[in-house]
Amino acid sequence: MKLITTMFGLIAALTLSLSSASVAMAGDGVVRDVRMWTAPDHTRLVFDLNKQIDYKVFRLHNPERIVIDMEHSVFKANLNGLKLPDPVLQSIRHGKPSANMLRIVMDVKDKVQPRSFLLKPMQGKPHRLVVDLSRPDEARKAAMSAGEPKSKKGLVIAIDAGHGGEDPGAIGPRKLYEKTVTLAVAKELARIVDATPGMKAVLIRSGDYFVPLKRRVYLVRKAKADLMISIHADAVRQRTVEGASVYTLSERGATQDRAARALAAKENAADEVGGVEFDQVDDPMVTQILGDMFRRDSLNSSQILAESIIGKLKGAGPIKYDVPKRARFYVLGAMEIPSVLVELDYISNPAREKKLKSRAHQKKLASALFGASVKFFEKMGRIKSTSDQAAVQPEADSVADQKLYAVNR
Ligand SMILES: [Zn+2]
Repeated sequence: MKLITTMFGLIAALTLSLSSASVAMAGDGVVRDVRMWTAPDHTRLVFDLNKQIDYKVFRLHNPERIVIDMEHSVFKANLNGLKLPDPVLQSIRHGKPSANMLRIVMDVKDKVQPRSFLLKPMQGKPHRLVVDLSRPDEARKAAMSAGEPKSKKGLVIAIDAGHGGEDPGAIGPRKLYEKTVTLAVAKELARIVDATPGMKAVLIRSGDYFVPLKRRVYLVRKAKADLMISIHADAVRQRTVEGASVYTLSERGATQDRAARALAAKENAADEVGGVEFDQVDDPMVTQILGDMFRRDSLNSSQILAESIIGKLKGAGPIKYDVPKRARFYVLGAMEIPSVLVELDYISNPAREKKLKSRAHQKKLASALFGASVKFFEKMGRIKSTSDQAAVQPEADSVADQKLYAVNR
């Protein structure tokens, strides 16, 4: 009898060690992949799961660790792809403290604040567990300085690179991501703007991380931007479609234009792909109701800005629509600030994808956006009219040139 018990014990022990070697049982949760995105004020980890799981997140001190316990789960992901250490996360490992428990331990640098939520499957992505490790100090610093120019002497251009992090945006046939193109063009545009006396660029997203749409609107307002350009690249099934298009916010209700409406729905879904918890950033400013006159005025200026951009983009590549279109884009929510959304081209077209990837073409697009901004400011009487020549010399920084961009406020 005793022998039998021992035998059973042995079998049980064997089974246990098997399960701790990550053999998934039927019905187990499986962590299939882990991705990491480093933002200035937080690091986001996204765990791909085969199903919704029960989990808890807690903290251990000395040394500082954040622990995720997942019930009835096994780990099948590869951690080697994570670029560690990052400003928050030093290392990550996993183990099985008990047969039914998967434990993920993250060594963190500062006293970070963890926050977590589950996302349902969306646009080809599976169930996901999102864990944000925020650095409260950095967040406060970022909130203080976010965009706010030290002295508001010049004209501020807010540049919003669409998508980022967990949300790649559209993907080209050769796997070029929209988020990569938008950031490259945004950074190039910022470089030109910052090299121009009297102007300052504010990048709403400066790296490969996700920024919720409401937060983008908040940051545009915080920057006290004089104009905002949200940069995107479109995709459709038909691979021959090409060309740029420019959008402004439609005042209210559904737009008549079905294509524009579909595009807005696609761009507005970014939060669901990139990962936003309900009411994550509920900024009262966003829901603030502005006077109709004020709003109309800015919508008119957005139209003028959009027309300038189409005009300049004509010199950089093909154009899809000759006139600006309107739709309800969430990211254009700072209605008191002239704001446009630009689809640079179709990343779904292999030839255009190749162009969008090219550094030279990215620079061309950025200069076109800059030229259009200058033209817009001139039309609005915000800068003293220059010759067209001056407007295409964005990098001039001599003392004489500084007068060119004297600001009328
Ligand atoms: Zn987009």
